[in-house]
Amino acid sequence: MRILTAFIIGVLVWLAAPPPLQGQGFNLPDLGSSAEALATPQELRRYGRQLLGSFRDAGLLFDDPLLDEYMEDLGYRLVAQANRPDLHFKFFLIRDRTINAFAAPGGFIGTFAGMVLMVETEDELAAVTGHEIAHITQNHSLRGVESASRMSIPIMLGMLATIVAASQSSGSSGDAVQAAITSGMGLMQQMQINYTRANEYEADRIGVQTLAQAGFDPGAVSSLWSRMARVSRNYGLSPPEILRTHPLETTRIAEAKARADAIAYTPPEPVDVASLKSLDGQFRIFQERMRVLMASSSDQTLVNHYRQELDAKPDDPFLGYGLALSLTRRQSWSQAEEVTDRLLQAHPETLVLQLLKADIEGRTGRTSAALARYQALQDRHPDRAAILAPYAELLIQHNDADSARHAVRLLRPLVDRDTDHARLYALIGRAYELSGEAVRAAESHALSAAWNGRFEDAMRQFERLQRRPDLDYYQRARVEARISELMPLVLEIRRRGGQAGTG
Ligand SMILES: [Zn+2]
Repeated sequence: MRILTAFIIGVLVWLAAPPPLQGQGFNLPDLGSSAEALATPQELRRYGRQLLGSFRDAGLLFDDPLLDEYMEDLGYRLVAQANRPDLHFKFFLIRDRTINAFAAPGGFIGTFAGMVLMVETEDELAAVTGHEIAHITQNHSLRGVESASRMSIPIMLGMLATIVAASQSSGSSGDAVQAAITSGMGLMQQMQINYTRANEYEADRIGVQTLAQAGFDPGAVSSLWSRMARVSRNYGLSPPEILRTHPLETTRIAEAKARADAIAYTPPEPVDVASLKSLDGQFRIFQERMRVLMASSSDQTLVNHYRQELDAKPDDPFLGYGLALSLTRRQSWSQAEEVTDRLLQAHPETLVLQLLKADIEGRTGRTSAALARYQALQDRHPDRAAILAPYAELLIQHNDADSARHAVRLLRPLVDRDTDHARLYALIGRAYELSGEAVRAAESHALSAAWNGRFEDAMRQFERLQRRPDLDYYQRARVEARISELMPLVLEIRRRGGQAGTG
């Protein structure tokens, strides 16, 4: 029952936003398990990732290598300056317009798209991230978990059931996903006991140090909180969710400002964007990409929005990027290419623009040009999922064994890096099929299902594989290891299945 409890704690903590468990002997709620059933950091990490899988399947993650890489780079740049760089962290983005961010034990820091779109500078995004990192490094709210968890367990299980039901129902209906988010928000509100005023002040105080040491503007903490307060007033009775879990008051803003003023900070020389050969890594690229990926692909509104903005600021390359990307989403290939080419002339070394160009080439029948472009990009930036995934995808469309083997060679290092990227497993599975490696193909498809949170499905696939008479010793050992890893989780989901819908 150790794993059952660990899973439940994983779910609880993931949603409730308290800090990592470090083996302190606080009392866990009695779920019929023994007292030693405390999650190890490894278990927390594993269950955190599996829970991410459920959210992925419910469509709540972007799984966009460019967005993910940006958020991870920002997060690790801060972690490197935090007072506990030894702790495990995982930064991820949630595809939802809620204005919030949270930190959960195991170092899982989730940032909602609504937060990314609301902030005005990278420093402000770094400020909220540094604040969440501090909640982890300072071990906040263990007592909050202890006192709140008993009464929240039924709600939490209802929530889990809803998520699992939402993620396992075919097509993940928008309503089910919305219900899962709503109950998650309700749970977070209920758990706001986790954040005492003292915790908030401490996270601000530690966070601003980290922020400054990582080279960001320490003034971004108070500017962010002031903006929040303003947004909150405009919202009237329903303030942004982050204020429910992170209470805000004027003294807190004033203290953040005083603290920032005490830190020597020289703002960097303003960059002349027009002169940049590469726009990669720029906050605005990240923000505009997220804005486009948040919109539905059939929506013309965004294209109009970018055209209007560009009328006022024709030289803003970030607006240009947003326009090009939103045009590709509507499959307006020639218009998209025109905008992309113009941007590439001014900023020829920009990876995100080169990728856009390769995508357009690949989708308009110029396959060899696209493949050559991907190859050149790979030579310049080895091992980047943002390049290798679309490169492999295009090779796989060739439908021949040689191209498929090439795709396997591209993807193999990525999946071997212990990635939980379900889409990469699906891709490499297809490539293995085409190159005639049936067992590897079946294993990859099963892992793709598991990382998508479809544990039952993954289990059935591994069991089918296990019954094959032609497995060699190593293949059989791999399959059996996966089955014993999944079994407790699947049994627990089956046992709780009857509670679906209570959230
Ligand atoms: Zn906080």
